[in-house]
Amino acid sequence: MVTARGGGRFAPSPSGDLHLGNLRTALLAWLFARSTGRAFGIRMEDLDRVRPGAAERQLADLAALGLDWDGPVVRQSERTALHHAAIDRLSAAGMTYECYCTRREILQAVTAPHGPVGAYPGTCRDLTDAERAERRAQGRPPALRLRSRTTEFEIVDELCGAYRGLVDDFVLRRGDGMPAYNLAVVVDDADQGFDQVVRGDDLLASTPRQAYLATLLGWEVPHYAHVPLVLNVEGKRLAKRDGPVTLADRLALGQTPRQVFSLLARSLGYNATGPDQLLAHFHPEHLPTKPWTLTPGSVV
Ligand code: GLU
Repeated sequence: MVTARGGGRFAPSPSGDLHLGNLRTALLAWLFARSTGRAFGIRMEDLDRVRPGAAERQLADLAALGLDWDGPVVRQSERTALHHAAIDRLSAAGMTYECYCTRREILQAVTAPHGPVGAYPGTCRDLTDAERAERRAQGRPPALRLRSRTTEFEIVDELCGAYRGLVDDFVLRRGDGMPAYNLAVVVDDADQGFDQVVRGDDLLASTPRQAYLATLLGWEVPHYAHVPLVLNVEGKRLAKRDGPVTLADRLALGQTPRQVFSLLARSLGYNATGPDQLLAHFHPEHLPTKPWTLTPGSVV
């Protein structure tokens, strides 16, 4: 997907059907890419929970709404050699260490009094060879963490502005040997030529880690746009249990894909029944900055 004009992407996890919040993020990713003359690609982030058939249904739903994409859909699980090569580069530079902590131990560890909240407390950062051998002998499969040289990094987001956030010794390779999300996303975006990252703002807090990692690997930090989430009437992040929230649910109610599209367009402040019509009027600076609350009666 590497193109001279750059690229944007939508990177869903194929763990189930996309709901209206995911579809709205996909539409925004498409709009940001197309309105800036970029290519647009889709990457299935299937290193984790995969539901059989979900990837195919997600693609069919995106196509039904009129979104198109360039090049073949890429599966992250087919790219693990690249992920491991990046981890090896960091290890060769002395920038990784094995971590034997369980999730519970990390939660229970007393963080340094002035340490950043939510950061890995560094328990395994300076283990001696003997201590490491002892833990290895207990048979715990280690994760591999970044030996970060900073505790913060600032990114600039097109919608959220300058955002300075935590960078800790985050996991690069999980205990099961698989690449961790924060590593894989950085490697894949750079390798696939995606210089524009549009996604839900629930991922904003992870972004300083990812941007810092990109700089360590010698890559350009992508342009970011974190878009507000869709909420249910209780003000919580929309979930599948919130009623008819997938395209299939809406079609079963007798709505058409065009009607579902115009609902999404309206939530962004536009009257449009298809992507090209919306693209002709799209101005990111006019996008709503608040989350969209989906009420059960929202139809068209
Ligand atoms: N796969 C992630 C998700 O579905 C998105 C990652 C990204 O866009 O960077 O939440």
